[in-house]
Amino acid sequence: MSKGEFDIIQRYFQRPKNDDNGVVIGIGDDCAILDIPQDYQLAVTTDSLVSGVHFFEDVDPYRLGYKSLAVNLSDLAAMGATAKWVSLAITLPSINEVWLAEFCRGFFALADQYNVQLVGGDTTKGPLSITVSAKGLVKKTKVLTRNNAKVGDIICVSGSLGDGAVGLSAKLESLTLTNPQPFIDALELTEPRLALAKSLVDHASSCIDISDGLSQDLSHILKQSQCYAEIALDKLPLSDAMLDEIKSGNITKQQAWQFAINGGDDYELLFTISAEKLIKLRLELNKLNLSCFDIGTVTQQQLVNEETQSLVFTYKKQAVALKSTGWDHFK
Ligand code: ADP
Ligand code: MG
Repeated sequence: MSKGEFDIIQRYFQRPKNDDNGVVIGIGDDCAILDIPQDYQLAVTTDSLVSGVHFFEDVDPYRLGYKSLAVNLSDLAAMGATAKWVSLAITLPSINEVWLAEFCRGFFALADQYNVQLVGGDTTKGPLSITVSAKGLVKKTKVLTRNNAKVGDIICVSGSLGDGAVGLSAKLESLTLTNPQPFIDALELTEPRLALAKSLVDHASSCIDISDGLSQDLSHILKQSQCYAEIALDKLPLSDAMLDEIKSGNITKQQAWQFAINGGDDYELLFTISAEKLIKLRLELNKLNLSCFDIGTVTQQQLVNEETQSLVFTYKKQAVALKSTGWDHFK
């Protein structure tokens, strides 16, 4: 017998209740009811993934399930929140149980890794699209925002840049690589930096996750914090896979920088921090086996060729002209 909406919800989305997660009522009623501890605030974020826009129709469903949650958890990390709950609105063209089982396997692999509980959602029929809303908790005085970067702060990122964008180019066959797999993995199996965020709340002055390209996402911090920045291209962390492709001549160094600066889909955290606090943070991260890379500084207004630029790139301390763009759905 073919399965209906409620069989699907029960079979794939309803899972045993995790008692210590503040879930008073989970899936099965009109709303979920969640307990918020005193001194904490609720961080809420939503991201949609639409077939043909955010992923290829034939994407591996495990990876789609994983990524639809990962991009949301990345937003929670960027605010310094601990991920707790998630809801999932899924629109399916038809019920394909093999596909659904794989989607859920990817989704719950990541949910379980961070002890995030699925507490509700919606299941409808139509063109394939996924909308996830993640909820997290953050201590009232420890929220990481975009508007508090200070002149003199150091700009850091949580990991190598550009791989996701190279992965997308490899999939679109606009780039030939010796070994495309690590880039495609970077694109499809992004790791939300929730562990790092736990340490950042005590030290960073501002934070954002890089989903639309470093230059565009950094510019949000600069605009909201009313300051400027200088980024040293020679300090941009590039992955071993990227360095290998540069060595093989498949990607030039300039292209690698462009991918790192303007490519989307990295989901690394970008944060600003005072030099003094960066020393403390590094000591803490060493113990946790985590790392961060300083790539530049927050500055006062800068003039380049008599033009004001909020973002200046340098190579070996000399200003370099680089186009900074970034992803915009409507441009
Ligand atoms: P309503 O009609 O009140 O909106 P539904 O009949 O759509 O509720 O859903 C029944 C229950 O199943 C609700 O608790 C809802 O949150 C949950 N639910 C529906 N779809 C999903 C899904 N894809 N993932 C998780 N929970 C879901
Ligand atoms: Mg209802």
